[in-house]
Amino acid sequence: MIKTNSDSDITIIGAGPAGSCAAWEALQGELEQPVSIIEEHHQIGEPVHCSGLIALDGLQKLKLSRREINRKICHNKIRRAKFISPNLTSVEIDRGSDSMGVVNRVSLDSILAERARRAGCDFYLGHRVTEIKYDKNHWILQIMKKNQSRIHRSKILISAEGTRARLSASIGLPTPDKNWLFPAIQYEFEGIQNLEPDCVELYFGRKYAPGFFGWVIPINDESARIGVAISRKFSRKTREFITRFFKKHPLLKPRLHNAIKTQHYGGLVPVSGPINKTFHTNLMVVGDAAGQSKATTGGGVNVGGFCGRLAGNIARKIIAGDIASRQGSRDYEKLWKAHFEPNLSLMKLLRRMMTPLPDETWNKIIHIAKDTDMGGHLQKSDIDLHGIDLLKYSLTPRVFVRGLNLFPQAATSLLRGLSI
Ligand SMILES: Cc1cc2nc3c(=O)[nH]c(=O)nc-3n(C[C@H](O)[C@H](O)[C@H](O)COP(=O)(O)OP(=O)(O)OC[C@H]3O[C@@H](n4cnc5c(N)ncnc54)[C@H](O)[C@@H]3O)c2cc1C
Repeated sequence: MIKTNSDSDITIIGAGPAGSCAAWEALQGELEQPVSIIEEHHQIGEPVHCSGLIALDGLQKLKLSRREINRKICHNKIRRAKFISPNLTSVEIDRGSDSMGVVNRVSLDSILAERARRAGCDFYLGHRVTEIKYDKNHWILQIMKKNQSRIHRSKILISAEGTRARLSASIGLPTPDKNWLFPAIQYEFEGIQNLEPDCVELYFGRKYAPGFFGWVIPINDESARIGVAISRKFSRKTREFITRFFKKHPLLKPRLHNAIKTQHYGGLVPVSGPINKTFHTNLMVVGDAAGQSKATTGGGVNVGGFCGRLAGNIARKIIAGDIASRQGSRDYEKLWKAHFEPNLSLMKLLRRMMTPLPDETWNKIIHIAKDTDMGGHLQKSDIDLHGIDLLKYSLTPRVFVRGLNLFPQAATSLLRGLSI
């Protein structure tokens, strides 16, 4: 074991979208403060644990240009989403223009990291942070590379370590609730028939995806990412559910007759909702580790990336002396919550209610959505912040009256979801 020391003004743990956006933003000022990212994997963006369906507006808020998005990141653009009930009724939202991209996550993460590197960030790939502690106005990080350990000191620490948030837990900060990290498996298939390349399909029902949904995300007119995520309590059967989904679902089976599987990924979909406390003295938690994802869909790239930018900006101001260091990390929490918390908390409540819903209720919900033009109501809603728009739609008189008889079931489900 060798021990060498290194120092940074700002250190970020994790080179996912939240970490790389934080590093880039921290380097936007005139000061040339040392900024480092420490990432345990050797390759940025790998292993992939994402379906890569991302709102294009949100990607632009990460300050990626349309040119970069179109040329280097997106395989395909999506205009429509189809929601399919257990009894095979469907309702569609047609946004009228391309609103989501099907992205290559390795390219996206690499472009965000490369942008931070060009701005001056040092990357330590293949280095794992094993311990953090605050001492004498610095964060002291224990870092392992293979079997060698060293110490790194930093004035400010941004933790972007993803869903498991082990380091947050080690200093007593709250972490995403493990019961609401849903196991998922996804395959890529080629040679699919009757695929609509501009439309994602979301399948509800306990037979194929209990507690969440199955998806078909087209990459082009004959290949797609097909996956399921399910409630934590069925985690041992994830493989069984995905196999049943593509081999038995009546709307999928015939289309996959001659299709071949090309890739396979897994992961934990973050649906736990926002974390209450995301700061410590000179430390900010961003991305999945802070619960900055949509509990309705599990999407976290845009919200986490934007919150990473907010944290990087505050870190830069602390180092420049524009904000008192004691106040800065507290300000970060106020800021990200002001942007996102009402929506993310509402999506969390919806997830708690939706996960235990029985199939008959899903059938009725999708039936009502079809009859009351859900597609028209949500056509213009913000894809990353749809919680409040969904609530407004459910409170429109037609939906409210039609939904009244679902109220007892929804309330029971919500209570069950809240007690998990
Ligand atoms: C199956 C699946 C499908 C998904 N689909 C979508 C989707 O379609 N759209 C969407 O927006 N989101 C999706 N998500 C969620 C999305 O992947 C996450 O919200 C997003 O990656 C969060 O970014 P992050 O930077 O917070 O964390 P991550 O991307 O998880 O990055 C964290 C990084 O920290 C590193 N790290 C962790 N601990 C340490 C340590 N101790 N030392 C050094 N490095 C460390 C990790 O190696 C990792 O690189 C999906 C997730 C899953 C599992």
